[in-house]
Amino acid sequence: MAELLYTLRDRLQDPAIPWKTVLVGSVVASEVFETYIGSRQRPYLSSVLYPTLPAALKPYLTASDAHDTYRKSQAYARHKLNFGSVLSIIDLAQTAILLSGVSAPVVSALGFDVRTRDWTLLKGFWDASALVPGAGASEIKQSMAFVALMTVVSSILSVPTSYYRNFVLEEKHGFNKMTRATFVKDFFKSLFVSMLLEVPLVGGILKIIHWAGQDAILRIVSWTIAFIFVVQLAMIFVYPYFIAPLFNKFTPLAKDSPVYPRVEALAKRLNFPLASVWVIDGSTRSSHSNAYFYGLPFLSKNIVIFDTLLEKSTPEAVEAILAHELGHWKGSHIVYLLGTSLLQVAFSLSTFSLLLTNRPLLSSFGFHAPLSEKLLHPLSHSTGPTIIALFLASALFTPLSAFLKFLTNTLTRRLEYDADAFAVKLGPSYARNLKKALVTIHEKNLAVYAVDPVYSAYNHNHPTLVERLEALDAGLDKSGEKKVE
Ligand SMILES: [Zn+2]
Repeated sequence: MAELLYTLRDRLQDPAIPWKTVLVGSVVASEVFETYIGSRQRPYLSSVLYPTLPAALKPYLTASDAHDTYRKSQAYARHKLNFGSVLSIIDLAQTAILLSGVSAPVVSALGFDVRTRDWTLLKGFWDASALVPGAGASEIKQSMAFVALMTVVSSILSVPTSYYRNFVLEEKHGFNKMTRATFVKDFFKSLFVSMLLEVPLVGGILKIIHWAGQDAILRIVSWTIAFIFVVQLAMIFVYPYFIAPLFNKFTPLAKDSPVYPRVEALAKRLNFPLASVWVIDGSTRSSHSNAYFYGLPFLSKNIVIFDTLLEKSTPEAVEAILAHELGHWKGSHIVYLLGTSLLQVAFSLSTFSLLLTNRPLLSSFGFHAPLSEKLLHPLSHSTGPTIIALFLASALFTPLSAFLKFLTNTLTRRLEYDADAFAVKLGPSYARNLKKALVTIHEKNLAVYAVDPVYSAYNHNHPTLVERLEALDAGLDKSGEKKVE
């Protein structure tokens, strides 16, 4: 295995490989693929081809305004799909500008040196990050400054599209509850949080790579996995206690709320170590609704219910949703999710490691070895900035991440079915209430009804509404219960 990796790595050092073409081809190919997937979904959203509710759903959607809701959901889905296409084009344009020299005249006018052969804007950012106070001292420090710089720039560039998403798209379909002041505050808070998390994370990973030696693929992968595992465990603690409260207000669920005794009884029945039940003010940003639980392994846990869910659903429905959530807890689904994400990191990192010492790749984008280094070590292939090699490798392997998306969605869907099945086992009333709750949430969120199977496999980490309702019915049938009330 290791032998194979090293042979492959050496083959990739071949100076004849046209890296620029390969990388551009790879990014464009995955963009074309995403466009194709999106185009598969388009006919399902047409009011001509699909003028009414899908037949499979008709028995479940009995409200008098069901058709009206369907029409609205189609319009919402069309708007989101179109917006997605625009986002892909913007994304592609930004990548093209970053990885080429088209911006050279502008950058040169700003007083920066763009004379390197094969200069790219990426090289420009790397040089600029050396100017951050204290950053020029070492490669790791400069890399941390580089990540910070890139985060700031990409956050600023995403403002117009994020503004459009909230104040035009979501607004038009009746979901936006965010004020412009919250939007601005959120921008700075998220920027602060991502700097605080990303910059040290990158610093840590680079430290491991440098310590292990860029050549030691297996050592790099195993130690980085261990490091990321520790970070993930820490995040289970940090996220709910320190990050989520930055964005939302948590208030204890009132004891006299009709939902309270139901939650308490359900937790007791399942031996769920319940600490508190919180209501989160999701409604200050959006009227989409949800519920979840959090807490450290082996310790007591907290249940969080969105105020939007409480407002829109009956107490029985909220209880059924929580039964589903507790199914995730009972089945230790978090362990599976953590495990898969680590596997994903291991897989990506092993492929990226093949390119860490690839001089021709770095040179194609303006990162040439300094002359002094060449004179000192004429035979050894001196290496360039590791962070840049990682960045280029991840761009090169974008099609791979599309493939991984299919796999992870398959797993998360499996877990959703399991959590639903858990609710069915609690009793037929839970299954019936869960069905009602899913329909209500689906309607209130204007979620899409008709989906292309491939589009759905790629984009949705939950099974579709029809699939879930049918699975719940099958569960009810098995327990000998009639499915119609
Ligand atoms: Zn779930």
